[in-house]
Amino acid sequence: MKLKYLLFFFSISLFSQSKLAVKYYYEEVENGFNIMVDNNEYCEVSVVLRLNHENVTVSSKKQDTFIVPARTVGVRLSALKAIHIGRYGFDFRHREYRGNITKTSYNKNFPYSLPFKKGQSFLISQGYDGDFSHKNIKALDFDMPLGTPVTAIRGGTVVKVEDSFDKHGETADFARFSNYIIISHPDGTFSRYAHLKKESAKVKAGDFVTTGKVLALSGNTGWTTGPHLHLEVYIPKPSENLYIKTKFKVGRGHVSVFLKENQTVNRNY
Ligand SMILES: [Zn+2]
Repeated sequence: MKLKYLLFFFSISLFSQSKLAVKYYYEEVENGFNIMVDNNEYCEVSVVLRLNHENVTVSSKKQDTFIVPARTVGVRLSALKAIHIGRYGFDFRHREYRGNITKTSYNKNFPYSLPFKKGQSFLISQGYDGDFSHKNIKALDFDMPLGTPVTAIRGGTVVKVEDSFDKHGETADFARFSNYIIISHPDGTFSRYAHLKKESAKVKAGDFVTTGKVLALSGNTGWTTGPHLHLEVYIPKPSENLYIKTKFKVGRGHVSVFLKENQTVNRNY
């Protein structure tokens, strides 16, 4: 069998650009190929592979999900072997997501810290499932003046920093101009801090941050009607992330509670 002939049936989707720092390629082996992946992201990545094939055996399922560890190269996703002489071929599609999309459990009692410095207090202008822009989203908006230092609510690894935008508007189509930072936590959850000020990030992807570390300055970028910090915690899922309510330390920091719309919270710890 001339392996080179196989190439004519390969799908071009293999070479399509992924938004994540994930690279797919083939490794040639006797009578077949391995589909390989490199994950250059600073968190684990879920890869969903969908294969169509003819006259080859494959080691993976027709649709299979792989959890590839952070910063890992040369991971074999599937091994393909030719069955017999004839018309061989396959094509596949891939999608990739930051984090482990198969995860269901997380630390429900973790005491999160408020996302600003000690001694400050801010109003929660929109709460979980809020009518304006949080419908079916467990997110919180903190009414913060421009340039307020935003701090890490929990330790973890910075996996994405976007702070190049300087635009905002009151309709959903401005959402893509939001500056944001995403942090991966040890229990598989992620937190995202949005609407940050242009070029204000104090951290970069790959940094490990502890609770209270200043991440950036609050701003007014993206879909907003005024300066504020949008904060969400979630487990990544393929279509829509599973947003979760988390408990925050309030008052002297001894009690952890779910925060509510129109509540003013102060940080004394
Ligand atoms: Zn919001």
